[in-house]
Amino acid sequence: MESMSTLTRRTLLVGGLALTALGAGSARLVDPFTLGVASGDPTPDGVVLWTRLAPVPLAEDGMGGMPSRPVEVKWELAEDERFRRVVRRGTEWARPELGHSVHVDVAGLESGHEYFYRFATDGHLSRTGRTRTAPSPWTLTTPLTMAFASCAQYEHGYFTAYRRLAEDEPDLVLHLGDYQYEYEAGVHVAPNGNVRGVDGPRTTTLANYRQRYAQYKSDADLQAAHAVAPWSVVWDDHEVDDNWAGMVYSKPEKPQPDFPRRRTAAFQAYYENMPIRQAPHGLDLQLYRRIRWGRLATFHMLDTRQYRDDQPCGDGIKVCDERLEPQRTILGPEQESWLLGGFRDSVARWDVLGNQVFFSQYDHTRGPVQETNLDAWDGYAADRDRVVAGFSSVRNAVVLTGDVHAAWGVDIKERWDDPSSRTVGTELAGTSITSGGDGSEDYPETPEWFAENPHIKYFNNRRGYVRTHLTADGFRADFRGLDHVSRPGAEVSTKASFLIEDRVPGLNPL
Ligand code: FE
Ligand code: CA
Repeated sequence: MESMSTLTRRTLLVGGLALTALGAGSARLVDPFTLGVASGDPTPDGVVLWTRLAPVPLAEDGMGGMPSRPVEVKWELAEDERFRRVVRRGTEWARPELGHSVHVDVAGLESGHEYFYRFATDGHLSRTGRTRTAPSPWTLTTPLTMAFASCAQYEHGYFTAYRRLAEDEPDLVLHLGDYQYEYEAGVHVAPNGNVRGVDGPRTTTLANYRQRYAQYKSDADLQAAHAVAPWSVVWDDHEVDDNWAGMVYSKPEKPQPDFPRRRTAAFQAYYENMPIRQAPHGLDLQLYRRIRWGRLATFHMLDTRQYRDDQPCGDGIKVCDERLEPQRTILGPEQESWLLGGFRDSVARWDVLGNQVFFSQYDHTRGPVQETNLDAWDGYAADRDRVVAGFSSVRNAVVLTGDVHAAWGVDIKERWDDPSSRTVGTELAGTSITSGGDGSEDYPETPEWFAENPHIKYFNNRRGYVRTHLTADGFRADFRGLDHVSRPGAEVSTKASFLIEDRVPGLNPL
């Protein structure tokens, strides 16, 4: 029980946000704002605000130490960090059936505007988050600083890269998947060893996924990155299970009789823990969507997991003719026509794909034999051909990619096996936040490896993220890398910078 004087002092501290006890005689919670705050999916007049209450984040039942009743949460949004100019406030219920998460879909805001937000409940106040609305639909000349990241296995390292990303103060953050990993402690070990432990078993139930999200979200570096800017997130495989495909569990050798049920739990936990509008409907959650940044950029956020065909030839990196079959799809027919239609209708200077798995052809073996990664777009080559053909209807196509745990820069070719064919787009693969551990500056192989894949222009095996700067004239990418993640506090440096010029696809080193 808190004394009345504590409550009064806090009430004064929080200024305009009126805090009231939630029902006489109810036990007061310890601080429920242990998972931070977040915002996401900005539109020209709105943004989603998020928090989730969890006074005991690691509780095994996934309920974060919350009572099994709805709890009232107040929120406010202001033009200034000290909340002197509050423009919206309201109240939401954090409900146990949604893990006591709160999603506020704020509308009616000014375009291209910075805002600050916070939550309060039961005498406690959250940290303050900074967010931003997208510019008005015709804005072209206001530059955008966007950072993108992926692949943060908790056990593989400290989330310092998220902290450094926050210090860059981007306007927008894209997360391209593997936000969390499903493994139980110690089974998926980084080359230089695991440096942190995870609680709980391999995530298969809603309670498991909730507990795992809570552990990740307790990380201060991750919280800082969420608090600095709105995010737009898409999942890859590990938010559900390694290399899952549609309704197919990836490991027939490990029976999973009720994968649909597991997927349902994973999708619900994803919604509960992310600043997104789309709620799940049973087995489905439509995650693909667009974020429009005026006429400067349209971000086509993809879901290459939920609708894909199973990986060909039993998955893996191998020779496989089945990967070339024309009917194979990684996007599914509806998402593919949505994407190609979006290309045709686009008025954006930059059409950017927020994509999970490696897009460009990548031949892993020397000589005429081609072994490719069948979990990536190489396993769905005809679908990729249809997307690349669609690039002809946009002004500039840039594919952003997660999954591969290293930084890559690639010229997307009209015909992969013909280096003299036209470059029609550009792929930038962000490295990982931690997955793979410290890494090294080494190339995967000798220079012959680049000779085998001449469209691949850049590789770096350090952890980090990519910071981009978009203007009407150019798309600049800074590959930001850390020399270690096995100890906290690494500095970040720009390992390489490239410029993509308007109407000139491909990478130019800076
Ligand atoms: Fe990953
Ligand atoms: Ca080869």
